[in-house]
Amino acid sequence: MTPNPLLDFSGLPRFDALRAAHVGPAVDALIAAARATVERVAGDSRPATWETVAEPLAETLDRLDRAWGAVRHLNAVVNTPELRDAYNGMLPKVTAFHADLGQDLRLLGRYRALAASPGYASLDAARKKAVDNELRDFRLGGAELPEDRKARFKAVQEELANLSARFDDNVLDATNDWALLVESEAELAGVPADVLAEARAAAAAGGKPGFKLTLRMPCYLPVMQYADNRALRATLHRAYSTRASELGARAEWDNTGVIARILSLRREAAELLGYPNFAELSLVPKMAQDAGEVLAFLRDLGRRARPFAERDYLELASFAREELGLADLEPWDLAYASEKLKAKRYAFSEQEIRQYFPEDRVLSGLFRVVETIYGIAIRESRATTWHESVRFFDITDLHGALLGQFYLDLYARANKQGGAWMDDAINRRRAGAHVQHPVAYLTCNLSSPVDGKPATFTHDEVITVFHEFGHGLHHLLTQVEVAGVSGIQGVEWDAVELPSQIMENFCWEWDVVAHMTAHVDTGAPLPRELFDKLLAAKNFQSGMQTVRQLEFALFDMLLHTAWDPRGGSEWTSPQALAEAVRREIAVVPRAPYDRAVQSFGHIFAGGYAAGYYSYKWAEVLSADAYSLFEEHGVLSPAAGARFRDEVLARGGSRPAMESFIAFRGRPPQLDALLRHNGMIIPAS
Ligand SMILES: [Zn+2]
Repeated sequence: MTPNPLLDFSGLPRFDALRAAHVGPAVDALIAAARATVERVAGDSRPATWETVAEPLAETLDRLDRAWGAVRHLNAVVNTPELRDAYNGMLPKVTAFHADLGQDLRLLGRYRALAASPGYASLDAARKKAVDNELRDFRLGGAELPEDRKARFKAVQEELANLSARFDDNVLDATNDWALLVESEAELAGVPADVLAEARAAAAAGGKPGFKLTLRMPCYLPVMQYADNRALRATLHRAYSTRASELGARAEWDNTGVIARILSLRREAAELLGYPNFAELSLVPKMAQDAGEVLAFLRDLGRRARPFAERDYLELASFAREELGLADLEPWDLAYASEKLKAKRYAFSEQEIRQYFPEDRVLSGLFRVVETIYGIAIRESRATTWHESVRFFDITDLHGALLGQFYLDLYARANKQGGAWMDDAINRRRAGAHVQHPVAYLTCNLSSPVDGKPATFTHDEVITVFHEFGHGLHHLLTQVEVAGVSGIQGVEWDAVELPSQIMENFCWEWDVVAHMTAHVDTGAPLPRELFDKLLAAKNFQSGMQTVRQLEFALFDMLLHTAWDPRGGSEWTSPQALAEAVRREIAVVPRAPYDRAVQSFGHIFAGGYAAGYYSYKWAEVLSADAYSLFEEHGVLSPAAGARFRDEVLARGGSRPAMESFIAFRGRPPQLDALLRHNGMIIPAS
């Protein structure tokens, strides 16, 4: 019998030999081995030390993570029915193993003993942090609660999971239920041809002539942006804005009650763990210290962005009045008028620009940036992969010592999950005398080469590649040797986008862009004039967009702090709170029927509850960090070495704020983000 390739940990994953039939036996064996290790560690009568507690667990979990990570990756990028069955078949077992681990009071006891032992003080900072994180996660998972309250905590978590699913289902059902049949094409003047073709096909599929409009994004958005028919836009806007609310089509899809129950259970879970509200619980593993800090941050940014938002709005309103004959801007005119204004100001074609960004030029431009600033070298290398188009690279230091490796899977194809992401294949970790070097999967869904011509990317797609590469470098350039806190492991949730977003800035530097463009037919670099148009369009309505994000973030944070589900708040309902926040910060008109709260999936069904602020928070960090590069010259090896040493190398081994201050010399400031978004008051 040939050995199972998933159980071979001597090097890179064995993608050449790996088959769906290997998944079940390997994962069963690894879980059994991990459970045996847990028993041994939990029942060990020797004193609790790093070597008797943390090390054996890290070793066994690393094997399970590596094998399961390879399976999860293949399931995402070369999905087949056999692989999907194998993955779905083992997922409950893997999930149950981790759930048991998080509730194992014997392990908690061993970690507590380790933290209280004389040896704890002599552990290095990374090991201390790893132990502290373990204790924190046991506590936040409810493992420390007395039995009766533990049962209640578990019931609350389960009901919350069900309510989140129900919230999503209601929004989805309400979205899918609505349709409008438009008979005459004249009523759809302005709508792009591909959207019309889709709508005609949808009507025909139901045996009807004309065009079937829906509230799904690929239809709703272009109609709101391009349809000249104002009454039609108003109709769609009302339907969209009242989805899953008491004003919507069906009472059973109304999320009002679901929201009330979610908020009350979240408050209960927080109180069971000893926190005054859900926001304070949510912020424990995050970079922001407390809700007060987040609220002050949002309001400070709001105060500074608002004049620019007002300016954006006045410009839009006067353009709409003078050029579109819209005397009063209504909520259903905003996207439409904005598109017209944008087209008038910044006419350029994405298709024209992409001709200047062929794949090889983009990659060599990207590698040039990171090689220059971080003092590394990137060379194409060889490994077995899951698809012929996947490439593999080594990263070395300037003496040729291997730092890490990555797979690059750029093109969209059938049976590959959409989007772009970085995932770890192997984490950096010391195992005895040997240090295991990190390996990453970098995955995108870009257009592939056609007709013998190289693949070309839009500027947005180039930004995506830079962004994911930044996550990759965070994983690959770590110097930490401790599992759980090396690379992106253990990095605070609201700080993890710093290394990725900082990379995006380079795509807006002429010196960088000029080096990575060559027209796919003529070889000519991107004309400066086209680049300037791109740059000008970047900050179109940045003030309005900023206050819109702040409105969501402020609502989210107040809802999970100041709103008390049992009553006694200053607002009568979450809807009333949303309206109060709009009065505080918004600059655009809002329809009285607007029930956006009822479909705010990020905070009621996604992972962003008391965390929506993190979008802006991370932008501030990355813009402010990048401003040091601007001060030193954007390709400065000195600034790069500092970012590599103080942020990338440290991973989760110390608080993100400490890393930021060590790099920047001070806490983050808002100024750089405002400047990058064109929100600066010109000196008089
Ligand atoms: Zn990211």
